[in-house]
Amino acid sequence: MPDAIATARRVQDAAADDLETILADLARWVACDSPSGATDELDALAADIAETLAGAGFEAELVPSPAGLHVHAVLEGPGQARVALLCHHDTVFPLGTVARRPLRRDGGRLLGPGVADMKGGIAVAAHAARLLAAGERPFARLELVCVPDEEVRSEPIATQSRLAGFDAVLCMECGRPGGAVVAARKGGRWLDVVAHGRSAHAGSEPEHGRNAVLALARELPRIAALDRAREGLTLHVTRMHGGDVLNSIAGEARATIDMRAWHDADLDWAESELLRCNPHRGVTFTSGEHRLVTPPLERTAAVAALAGQADAIGAALGSPAPEISTGGVSDGCWTAGAGLPTLDGLGPVGALDHSPDEYIEIASVAPRCGLVAGLVAAIDAGLLRDLSR
Ligand SMILES: [Zn+2]
Repeated sequence: MPDAIATARRVQDAAADDLETILADLARWVACDSPSGATDELDALAADIAETLAGAGFEAELVPSPAGLHVHAVLEGPGQARVALLCHHDTVFPLGTVARRPLRRDGGRLLGPGVADMKGGIAVAAHAARLLAAGERPFARLELVCVPDEEVRSEPIATQSRLAGFDAVLCMECGRPGGAVVAARKGGRWLDVVAHGRSAHAGSEPEHGRNAVLALARELPRIAALDRAREGLTLHVTRMHGGDVLNSIAGEARATIDMRAWHDADLDWAESELLRCNPHRGVTFTSGEHRLVTPPLERTAAVAALAGQADAIGAALGSPAPEISTGGVSDGCWTAGAGLPTLDGLGPVGALDHSPDEYIEIASVAPRCGLVAGLVAAIDAGLLRDLSR
């Protein structure tokens, strides 16, 4: 797809010329502490991002939610593709972090709270889109989405329905050292297995009791053995609690199970196996009422095509973008779970997220702008036509 590569080269060169502007936006956004939950600070940052995008020609809207404002900024063009660039502006660092640990440059790296996760990704998305729109505009709708709660949410993005029917989502978490993009993420499920017995006085009439702790303890080795029963499936018992007082037969016990896998089908299977318990006289098992789910980002045919195209563009730009898989979750899991082909890890190359040493490589910013622009052009040229999503 030579057009996509030509577009990627043009945008990369333009981004290199504009690098100081791009880094100035990034510096201003890093300078705003924006921990999840601090809605005043998050909303002020969202307003700054929206204003910056409006100044670059986007139609920018701030959409309220209980977690804070979501930025939805749209460019329209004469093409076919509808593509979302998915970002988040919350970080894991508390208020006051920037004052203690401001953005700094160390050789070819920028360090600072949220510089990789993912204010660098917002800067790349914003400028890749702006520079793409200054040329061919190979899209029908290019929508930058920036959410305020990625680090803490365990349910779909509040404004996700706005992306229904989109051709693809490019998620702007940082690229991995070596330039890799993320073509698969494991999904996770967390739920309790609860044993229900009958409590009774342990001294005077223990024979009336049905010991839930003992029954659950006998089942847990069977449950733990489901770990790795299928390719890529991990399953671990992470918590256990049972009984109330020191002198009663335990009437109830529960254990939390952490399950992760590349495919929803494997998680469905593991979940169904949890309650296939052996008979325990007078003790029954149910699953607990709280069940947390993050869907996997499955490597569908469409995702594989996006990753293959990223690899080709990266090679042409001289900045490799091979694909990897990872166990960690991101908002890309939610869009993928909703059936939108999603490729992740398109932000600047960086690492050590959630730590004081978090960094991005400055030299990766312009190539990543080119990569994002080239992918949009390739999708517009029909990359994903007739592929299973
Ligand atoms: Zn992130």
